[in-house]
Amino acid sequence: MDTSSPAAFVNGALLRRYIGQKVRAVVQVIRSDIGSVTGKSTDDQQIVVKGSPPPSLTTYLEVIGIAESENTIRADVWTNFGDNFDAGNYNELCRREEVMNELKVEVESNSSSQESLPKPQAMYRCKKCRRIVAIEENIVPHEPGKGEECFAWKKRSGNYAERVQCSSIFVEPMKWMQNIHDGTVEEKLLCLGCNARLGYFNWAGMQCSCGAWVNPAFQLHKSRLDECKSEPNPNQGTV
Ligand SMILES: [Zn+2]
Ligand SMILES: [Zn+2]
Repeated sequence: MDTSSPAAFVNGALLRRYIGQKVRAVVQVIRSDIGSVTGKSTDDQQIVVKGSPPPSLTTYLEVIGIAESENTIRADVWTNFGDNFDAGNYNELCRREEVMNELKVEVESNSSSQESLPKPQAMYRCKKCRRIVAIEENIVPHEPGKGEECFAWKKRSGNYAERVQCSSIFVEPMKWMQNIHDGTVEEKLLCLGCNARLGYFNWAGMQCSCGAWVNPAFQLHKSRLDECKSEPNPNQGTV
C-alpha cells in the first residue's frame, strides 16, 4: 500500500471518488464475518470492509485502506473507536475533504488545459505602441504571385527593387479595425492604440507586392509591425 500520501477521510458518498486510493473511514459495525466487516458509513450508507478485522470489535471502527469500489474498502489498519462516536463531527471532516478534493480537481484540469495550448505562434505588434494587432492564426495566406511581371511598370520606373517578396500580411477582419464596417469599401487601417497607419483595407480586394490578389483584403504593412514569436498567453488575446 502506498503510505506516502495521507488517507482521505471519506464517508459513503465520498468513497466512490477515491476508488484505487487510500482512504480512512469510520464505520458502524453491522455484521462481522471472517475477512470482512459490513457496516454503515457516517452518512448511513452500507460499506463492506475487507481484510483481517481484529477479533473483537467495538460498535465503531476506523479503517484505513484502499477504496476498492464505491462501497468496498480493503483495509489494512483497523482501529476500534469504541461504542460512542460522533458521526456528525466526522461528516464535517468529510465535507472538508470534499472541498479540498474539488479544489484539487480544478487545479488539475487547469494544468491539463495548459498542456493542450497551441504551440508558440507568431505575433504582430504595432511597431510604435507595441499593441498586438494580429497573431499567426489571423493571417489569411495567399499564393505568392509573379511579382516582377505584375509590377513591370514599377520596375521600368526604377522604383521597384524588391523581388517576389510580400511586404504585407493579409489578415481576417478584426475588431480593432474600427472603420471596416462603416460602409466604406476601402480605407486606411489605423492602430487602435496609437493611430499609426498600419495598412489598408479593401473589401473589393487588393494586390500584394508579390502580385497576388487577395479578396477581400485587410493588409498590414510588415514595415509597420514587429513580428515576434512568443509563448501563447491565454490572457492576452487580440481585440
Ligand atoms: Zn504576397
Ligand atoms: Zn500602435
